[in-house]
Amino acid sequence: MAVSNRLPIILKRKKDKWSIEPGSGGLVTALAPVLKNRGGLWIGWSGGTNDADLAGLMDLASRHAGYSLFPVPLTREEVQDYYYGFANEIIWPLFHDLQTRCNFIPGYWYQYLKINQRFAEVTAMRSRETDYIWVHDYHLMHLAHFLKEIDEHRQMGFFLHIPFPPLDIFMKLPWRTQILKALLKYDLVGFQTLRDRRHFLQCVQNLIEGVKVRGRGPVTTANLGGREIRVGAFPISIDFNAFARNAASDEVSDTAWYLHEALPDRQVILGVDRLDYTKGIPERLQAFKSALERFPELRGKITLVQVVVPSRERVEEYQMLKSEIERLVGEINGRFTSSGWVPIHYLYRSLSPYELLAYYRLAEIALVTPLKDGMNLVAKEYCACNLEENGVLILSEFAGAAAQLHRWAIMVNPYDIEGVSNAIHRAFHMNPGERKAKMRRLRRAIKRRDIFWWVNTFLKAALSRDLYSFPPIMEDYIPRTPLDVESGERDQPPES
Ligand code: UDP
Repeated sequence: MAVSNRLPIILKRKKDKWSIEPGSGGLVTALAPVLKNRGGLWIGWSGGTNDADLAGLMDLASRHAGYSLFPVPLTREEVQDYYYGFANEIIWPLFHDLQTRCNFIPGYWYQYLKINQRFAEVTAMRSRETDYIWVHDYHLMHLAHFLKEIDEHRQMGFFLHIPFPPLDIFMKLPWRTQILKALLKYDLVGFQTLRDRRHFLQCVQNLIEGVKVRGRGPVTTANLGGREIRVGAFPISIDFNAFARNAASDEVSDTAWYLHEALPDRQVILGVDRLDYTKGIPERLQAFKSALERFPELRGKITLVQVVVPSRERVEEYQMLKSEIERLVGEINGRFTSSGWVPIHYLYRSLSPYELLAYYRLAEIALVTPLKDGMNLVAKEYCACNLEENGVLILSEFAGAAAQLHRWAIMVNPYDIEGVSNAIHRAFHMNPGERKAKMRRLRRAIKRRDIFWWVNTFLKAALSRDLYSFPPIMEDYIPRTPLDVESGERDQPPES
């Protein structure tokens, strides 16, 4: 059984009529077969505020999915305080190390507890004692706490899709001990990377009395009050083969060809992000501007295609971010555009799957520079679609994907504007042989640990008795040295 804040459906309303479309994305693709084979169930919020109207549609969506979908009802006020408030104004910024953006409002916390209790009650009611319950993400950290009050024998796993912050940042959370204790009610707690797990264990060891941590492999155990909790690192991934296959389709190939034809003799740098301050979009634009200032030979020879997918548009902070991005795009284009060349192509919308794959396929460079990210699937999708193996991945040190991909990507500190502009310069000049060698290794690494590997590994860690049968230790990545800076290069003032 899977439980997440949102059900894997897209609810649409036209005038007064609702319709439901199945959700897409890696998590659904990977979990669907597991749930189908076992007569499984997915519990979550539908996205609407009056589920009574939706019962018929939900049945239809369940039949279509091949497993049951069960909605947890939420009112508008509850969504406001639990989802927009606690999850998105407290946990999201704090866990991305941006504590100054947090609004630690006590009312949010009480609503979060209330909704987690409701999710627990619905889950208890809809599950059997023998079901394994897999809970997803930061909205539902307290679910096991409440569910185990109802029945302490339920087996429950939790996976955190976002990063877990280091101790000194986590300490700022007014409810830090309650959250840690709640997470320790699960039987397995999974993180994206060893970095996140290390942070979690550090917090537990410092803030919870009487905890003993054992083992060093991908899955270790924490003992508390006679209970054993498994704690592991499981980097999430994509359906590599499906991306590669779809990228090779005629429709995608033709679209990619047409789009690139419009940009002759130019390398395309691609950025694809949801509108979010964790993605480092303004910093990236500054770096692109710096590259054009400092390396004049790039002018007219590179084009940045920046796709920003609308998100949380009702929130003022996100509207301000959008304005800042648009101001920067305008400023850079205003300054550098010349006859027949516009440096930044800015798309503020979500792309059709074909269009997205076409951009992945045609781009010579991907610029993936989040300030912090749980994993970053765009980095993996770009590589999967780079069938010609001629692309270069520029990747933030603070993306979860860095642990697996750092050896063959150009690694950057997204806060370092000149460092990122150096990386753009280096990627632009990278020769075809080096591009191919690196991209081949990137694709191999992603293919080997795809989304199906992720589901299997998590479930094996949850259900197997023998933890020593695990694959070798996951890779870790700790940035140590300043990257690829030619001596003196940064001391040059920019050309005016
Ligand atoms: N994506 C999308 N529509 C678009 C552009 C991107 O659905 O127009 C998808 C993309 O394929 C990827 C996801 O959005 O799977 C972004 O995932 P990522 O892990 O990079 O960041 P998140 O938005 O989850 O923080």
